[in-house]
Amino acid sequence: MNIELPEELRMLRETLRRFIDDEIIPHERDSYDGPELKPEYREKWEARARELGIWQIDVPEEYGGMGMGLLARVVVWEETGRTIAFPRRKAWIFGHDVSPILLQFLRDDQKDKYLWPILRGEKKTAIAQTEPDAGGDAAAIRTTAVRDGDHYIINGMKRFITGGGEADFFKVTCVTDKEKGARGGISCIIVDADTPGVEVLRRQETMMDDQPCEIGFTDVRVPVENIIGNEGDGFKIAQTWITFGRIRHGALGIGVMERCLELAATYAKQRVTFGKPLAERQAIQWPLVDIYSDIQLMRPLVYKTAQRYDDGEDIRYDSYLCKFLGDRKGYEAADRCLQIFGGMGLTTDFPIEKLWRDMRSMMITEGPEEVLKMALARHVLHEYG
Ligand SMILES: Cc1cc2nc3c(=O)[nH]c(=O)nc-3n(C[C@H](O)[C@H](O)[C@H](O)COP(=O)(O)OP(=O)(O)OC[C@H]3O[C@@H](n4cnc5c(N)ncnc54)[C@H](O)[C@@H]3O)c2cc1C
Repeated sequence: MNIELPEELRMLRETLRRFIDDEIIPHERDSYDGPELKPEYREKWEARARELGIWQIDVPEEYGGMGMGLLARVVVWEETGRTIAFPRRKAWIFGHDVSPILLQFLRDDQKDKYLWPILRGEKKTAIAQTEPDAGGDAAAIRTTAVRDGDHYIINGMKRFITGGGEADFFKVTCVTDKEKGARGGISCIIVDADTPGVEVLRRQETMMDDQPCEIGFTDVRVPVENIIGNEGDGFKIAQTWITFGRIRHGALGIGVMERCLELAATYAKQRVTFGKPLAERQAIQWPLVDIYSDIQLMRPLVYKTAQRYDDGEDIRYDSYLCKFLGDRKGYEAADRCLQIFGGMGLTTDFPIEKLWRDMRSMMITEGPEEVLKMALARHVLHEYG
């Protein structure tokens, strides 16, 4: 498969590179406040993104987007991954962030109520899957949705919900048939945040800048028509979002590796110890080459996987690779860069400590490496054993 980017995406990359280097990186320590971009930066950068024609690039044309697909989004994620200016889990200034769940699975009446307001920037949403007893093992959720006439009654608790405090509605995974579990017993239901019984219990402080929320659901009455897809499809639907997200991890990881290589190579040439620049020592050259090699290996994998997604192929297994390799290699690049910078790498004069903290966290969220490898092992044993 040809993994060279088409001309229009190469141009997109060049435009983005200039935008991020000239206008965003100079403000990267000042632009965010906790898990959010400061409003003045969001306003300015969104206006610039529109001017540059980088707006709703992957949203289908029928919804007013540019219809360029996931590969285009990969280019954007990769370039935005080079800076710490954006909160890592909410890095989007290129149009309102539409979940693939809303685009692919809503009925027309649901689209009017939930998709179009997101596209117009009037509403925000969050995905509520993780629970105290079910994270990596998402099939173990306990939140229940019990049918009562033409309503569901939802009870349970979710935690680590990104954007949970701001969301106007949640896409909540619930058990609708305990016996069936992940094979047809979990459903995905839209719950408006202002429904009685929905409560943001607390914001969770983290070692990054993220503040995901714990959300309680107590006897929450939701009309049956709020179900996404059919009853029992919830696990499959949530997996769609997670598969898409895994490509994001791969692309962001490449961006982090690129920035770390730029920083470390430049610093190694300037910094003199024991009478010679660091760059002349093999112990420093090798980690630089390691980062470079990882970029060369990761880019074709992530591009090819995104292209296959756009072509409608099943990318599940490659998406596992994109996720855990992108996170791990990104983290290793930040760690190598930190070591080369010595004490200066630990300071906030440089973005390295933030890249390091962010990438460490990415190795856990949206599926820890061990859980992805467990799923991939099933594929490997089936194909090769
Ligand atoms: C900042 C942040 C934002 C998040 N945003 C969201 C969100 O928006 N929506 C949402 O639903 N969730 C969200 N999450 C939840 C996140 O996806 C989970 O934390 C993640 O999936 C891991 O689940 P857990 O923390 O329960 O870890 P566990 O599943 O308890 O695993 C703990 C550790 O055990 C190991 N482990 C687990 N299973 C195995 C195994 N089978 N074999 C070997 N080792 C294993 C892994 O090393 C893992 O790190 C977020 C979390 C954070 C921290």
